[in-house]
Amino acid sequence: MSWTERQRTMLAEMGLRVWDAPAATVPASAEAAAVVPVATEARPTSRPVAVPVTAAPSPPDTVSPSAMARVPGAVAAMDWPALREAVAACTACSLHQSRRQTVFGVGHPQAHWMIVGEAPGEEEDRRGEPFVGRSGQLLDNMLRAIGLTRHGGDTPDPARQVFIANTLKCRPPGNRNPAPDELARCEGFLIRQIELVQPKIILAMGRFAVQSLLRSTAPIGQLRGRVHHYQGVPLVVTYHPAYLLRNLPDKARAWDDLCLALDTVEASAAHAIRGA
Ligand code: URA
Repeated sequence: MSWTERQRTMLAEMGLRVWDAPAATVPASAEAAAVVPVATEARPTSRPVAVPVTAAPSPPDTVSPSAMARVPGAVAAMDWPALREAVAACTACSLHQSRRQTVFGVGHPQAHWMIVGEAPGEEEDRRGEPFVGRSGQLLDNMLRAIGLTRHGGDTPDPARQVFIANTLKCRPPGNRNPAPDELARCEGFLIRQIELVQPKIILAMGRFAVQSLLRSTAPIGQLRGRVHHYQGVPLVVTYHPAYLLRNLPDKARAWDDLCLALDTVEASAAHAIRGA
């Protein structure tokens, strides 16, 4: 990737070093865009439903188990509208009692890039969209730096517009960490989202995304820097933006992680072209 002056300025503002990767297939510019098509979540209108849990998180390992075995039958068969409705109506754990609304996810339904975070915070709970607080601003800046956006604009492009989801769809009170039973009860939704999106790359941000997708409790520092796989989809581990806001020196590492993810997508696209 070669950097435009605008990107260089932005990266400098983020305190990130500039690294010139090989030519990108993703357009470099990221102009401001307007509406987020699948961003907002109305307050549940349908009857509450409890989504059954099939398994609690298993002990740590670095290999993803069969995700399908962890998805309740009904959720596994859902299309986007049904899944959205099921999330909005979910009462499977106690978080439904304190949420303002569920936070389903945002972005292109067939995005090449899927970003997985932790759980909604206060602002996300208020607005019904993931990553809209301070850490969301950092995430947006990082994505913009590599030509990606959460916004579709007038011509939504799955190569440029990401899909962002969390491991939990409801805010834990006081922004506490997700509890294991909450993760277990919610993970079927995330698994189904990934199946529906069929991303070319997953960026797992922070330890709860990693725990859900890789079943690993290893520190992020040990898992980042190489390509993992989730159900055959390349997965890159990186720091959570909220952590980066408190640990500025690790921004450079997060930047390397983004570049690794970008290289991975570009390599698989080049491979697909050669094989065609
Ligand atoms: N942190 C997350 O992991 N997700 C959000 O949506 C907001 C903050």
